[in-house]
Amino acid sequence: MEECIFCRIAKGGIPSSKVLEDENFLAFLDINPINKGHLLVIPKKHYGCFLDFPQDQLGPFFAFSQKAAKALIVTTKCDGFNLAMNNGRAAAQLVPHAHLHIMPRFTGDGFAFDWPTKKYEEGEMDRLAKRISSYVKK
Ligand code: AMP
Ligand code: ZN
Repeated sequence: MEECIFCRIAKGGIPSSKVLEDENFLAFLDINPINKGHLLVIPKKHYGCFLDFPQDQLGPFFAFSQKAAKALIVTTKCDGFNLAMNNGRAAAQLVPHAHLHIMPRFTGDGFAFDWPTKKYEEGEMDRLAKRISSYVKK
């Protein structure tokens, strides 16, 4: 099977501007940043999205991502940062290899997560919360 672009980056077959790397994870600069310094963090193994991570990899993945985020903040002197993981085409995931965006933000940088919101009917929130809760795997 042909490897996806992030598998190839993880193996060094495609060059990337690496920031942090260990045995399991890699952080590198996004080629089309929303602000300079925008990072992507990937597992070196191909997991399609958030749901495909083995549970015992999630903690290490986020600990690794936090290390990269701290270094990014010191370097860029950003005022804040967003973490985002797009999962599935409907959620704008273009590369089918799980990745976390770490996006440095500057006051007044003009980028906005400016999503329109929906309204719940009376009682709908609690019903929905119960339904979701009933599907949580014990
Ligand atoms: P997503 O929409 O969450 O799948 O985002 C994929 C991200 O990967 C985009 O922000 C792209 O700019 C980035 N990207 C794609 N190819 C490369 C590459 N070769 N090097 C660095 N970033 C890339
Ligand atoms: Zn892959």
